[in-house]
Amino acid sequence: MAKKIVITIDGWSSCGKSTLAKQLAKELGYVYVDSGAMYRAITLFFLRTNVDLASKKEIKEALQNISLEFIFNSTSGNSEIYLNSENVEYLIRDMFIAEKVSDVAAIKEVREFAVAQQQKMGAKKGIVMDGRDIGTVVFPKAELKLFMTADSAIRVQRRFKELYEKNPNITIEEVKDNLELRDYIDSNREISPLRRAEDAIELDNTNLSESQQFLKAIDMAKEKIY
Ligand code: C5P
Repeated sequence: MAKKIVITIDGWSSCGKSTLAKQLAKELGYVYVDSGAMYRAITLFFLRTNVDLASKKEIKEALQNISLEFIFNSTSGNSEIYLNSENVEYLIRDMFIAEKVSDVAAIKEVREFAVAQQQKMGAKKGIVMDGRDIGTVVFPKAELKLFMTADSAIRVQRRFKELYEKNPNITIEEVKDNLELRDYIDSNREISPLRRAEDAIELDNTNLSESQQFLKAIDMAKEKIY
């Protein structure tokens, strides 16, 4: 009998976590949750309302005014994030969010707010969630944990290609600097830093195509499910 499990995918920025997570969720009929989108949407709200990141009071008040929701878009085939009923899925991918998101995501109150919602979403299992602390903090008991890595030059190229399609003014240096900075902040912060859970399986996709990577991961998932 097939049982429902929780699959976590953590790793460095632009390792292809969301691509793999979406493929797995589609194949298994699971829900896919992009936890990074939540931190990005919170960052958008903080920027719009000029929250002072040094003020716990302002942070707490702002969080009380944030409602996040994922709604499936049958045209794009993706779950898209809504911030207070506004679809911000595309806006949050911009560089002005990428520049601030790791600072916002390092704040204790922000993490508690996001993690509580993430744990609720996974309570019934049948979920694939990607991020930085999903296998370590959000779902430490997940049945399958993956930790993705890839050569940093490849990661920069991938992210550059993605961003260039939307903004031809972007430079490769900007993208490289941003990835390095985010990885640094994400792996050195005090609360829930990015690290591989002891029981996570490392998947280096530097030399793997999307379909090769998918085949490896789906085999691992099926072993846990059946
Ligand atoms: O996954 P993505 O690159 O969209 O995530 C944006 C940022 O959100 C990361 O650089 C990190 O600072 C933060 N994040 C996090 N914990 C997660 C997911 C994302 O701190 N679980």
